[in-house]
Amino acid sequence: MPEISGGCLCGKVRFTANGDPGFVGICHCRNCQRQSGSAFAVVLGFPVAAVAVQGELKTYTDTGDSGKSLFRRFCPECGSSISTEVEVMPGMIILKAGTLDDPSTVKPMMQIYCDSAQPWVSLGGEMKCFPKMPG
Ligand SMILES: [Zn+2]
Ligand SMILES: [Zn+2]
Repeated sequence: MPEISGGCLCGKVRFTANGDPGFVGICHCRNCQRQSGSAFAVVLGFPVAAVAVQGELKTYTDTGDSGKSLFRRFCPECGSSISTEVEVMPGMIILKAGTLDDPSTVKPMMQIYCDSAQPWVSLGGEMKCFPKMPG
């Protein structure tokens, strides 16, 4: 992927990311469902150094099932979820496909937390499904 760009709904937060994401996945965990207000989150993991964010973010410190923290960052103006940093994945930053300027280029390769996927969600493709976070 070339440089990708994106931003929040109101436009106060913008970001760019360089290079290919280390992973692209779909997360069905209840916390992503709640935060997104949707059935799942489409997440792209990048090295922190590859991502530049302009604009102010607010942080909500969430707890994963590892007991470790997740820092969920969002636009304080419009509430769009922008990035997540996870203590168990140091050096990585997670972006959400829905905030990209062109989400059509995103190709998820796996689904995680399928144990809490909504029963009516059925996605095409050949994605591997993990009941929780793969080890
Ligand atoms: Zn905003
Ligand atoms: Zn999740």
